[in-house]
Amino acid sequence: MDFRKNDFVTVEIEDMGSEGEGIGKIAGFAVFVKDAIVGDTVEARIVKCMKNYAYGRLEKVLEPSPFRVEPKCSCDRQCGGCQLQALAYEEQLAFKQRKIRNNLIRIGGFAPEYVDAHMEPIIGMEEPYRYRNKAQYPIGTDRDGNLTAGFYAGRTHNIIANKNCWLGAEENEAVLDCVLEYMRKNGISAYDEGTGRGLVRHVLIRKGFTSGEIMVCLVINAKEKGSRFLPRQDELIRGLAKIKGMASVSVSMNTDRTNVIMGKEIHTLWGKDTISDTIHVRDMRQPGYPFTGEVLNFHISPLSFYQVNPVQTEKLYSLVLEYASLTGNEVVWDLYCGIGTISLFLAGSAGKVCGVEVVPQAIEDARENAVRNGITNAEFYIGKAEDVLKESIQDTGEKNKIKLPLPDVIVVDPPRKGCDGACLEVMLRLKPDRIVYVSCDSATLARDLKILCEGGYEIRRVRGVDQFGQTVHVETVCLLSNRKSKPDTHVKLSLSMDDYYRIKEEGKNNQ
Ligand code: SAH
Repeated sequence: MDFRKNDFVTVEIEDMGSEGEGIGKIAGFAVFVKDAIVGDTVEARIVKCMKNYAYGRLEKVLEPSPFRVEPKCSCDRQCGGCQLQALAYEEQLAFKQRKIRNNLIRIGGFAPEYVDAHMEPIIGMEEPYRYRNKAQYPIGTDRDGNLTAGFYAGRTHNIIANKNCWLGAEENEAVLDCVLEYMRKNGISAYDEGTGRGLVRHVLIRKGFTSGEIMVCLVINAKEKGSRFLPRQDELIRGLAKIKGMASVSVSMNTDRTNVIMGKEIHTLWGKDTISDTIHVRDMRQPGYPFTGEVLNFHISPLSFYQVNPVQTEKLYSLVLEYASLTGNEVVWDLYCGIGTISLFLAGSAGKVCGVEVVPQAIEDARENAVRNGITNAEFYIGKAEDVLKESIQDTGEKNKIKLPLPDVIVVDPPRKGCDGACLEVMLRLKPDRIVYVSCDSATLARDLKILCEGGYEIRRVRGVDQFGQTVHVETVCLLSNRKSKPDTHVKLSLSMDDYYRIKEEGKNNQ
């Protein structure tokens, strides 16, 4: 097709890509149009033309898709955060269901019938806005020199002024108004990434949805200066303390010229060091997923990792619990455990849980969370998943020397890049009866499932959970079970099969 840059074309959008871009065809030639949705007929301006496809910029929706809705947010197209606001929520769910399915087929190499036989309908949100419990607003200066708070435009670090992101808590705007007013009154500057000068870099806001508690942390470009971190900080605190739910005000020092938002140290200026939140266990077999009455409490500090959508997290963790189908005796390993939320969620139904995580502070939080919830059968280890797990197959040759119990069930919840190859290999050596894989990227999930299935596992159930409405992201939970009761001999083992069974038996006896 002979397109040139800046040509205007009319195209019917037939599909959407994994990043939410509309895809249409003109005489067999694919045109990708960001912000166009499936079912639209649009006018697009060609911005880049390749041999077999082109990128277009949405100029005008000529005929709107039946799935097109009015985005709630005024800066929906400029902001890099959401990609699907113009798509009706039910269709967003359908898009995510297709995305998981396509990745399993294309990347995982599974047959469509196999995928369809095991895939369950995605679990959507009742309220697909205002669901996030955490926001990190960059503070900057606009062209006229006025202080602003907002979001980065897609793929850049230009700040789009917006204090009311529709995904976040309503209180965020009042917090930002208060911080900006304090800065203006006291002549406090915003940080400038270009020069590395200026004081306030980001404002982190967290809210405990069940407790109603709010935490504010200002990230400042300063080194410690006694107990006063900001000029006239009492004024800031007085303002913030008036906001309903305010429970903690702190600063974090970050003088590094990097993209990392938070500094390593936190100093509480007012109120508590942490806020609390409660996660309820739900019965995922009942309609509406009612609470079972079991609850867990967590304390969250500005630096701790905590799932950003607490309502859907309850469903996600409860689904993991259901897939794990524990009887009360199993040894469960929770790899990539963060602050131990999944470990503690499963502990009540397991014999023993071992959590593994690389960030030492998170393990500290996990141990505290165990104590806080009166859980005594969970242990946490610092290290890479594969390294710690390997210790459970140490070939000691002697009884009583096995350091860690062998897993009956392994849960993994890795970051987007998926499991390390070494981690998959160790899992295949250990051959637990069941693996529950929690994934925030179905492409790397599909890649890893292929390896696990070639190594003797079978997909039993797969289900998406929408944790991130309006965006293209989706969480997926997959249950795998060991195809044979014994490990496959074609899996390379540094241990002999006899050793393996001996160790596994000894491990059981030693528990
Ligand atoms: N399951 C937790 C956290 C999941 S996020 C929850 O639901 O809250 C993924 C976690 O994996 C992060 O905490 C990250 O620090 C950790 N991580 C990354 N690479 C790892 C590795 N190789 N071994 C163990 N943990 C790792």
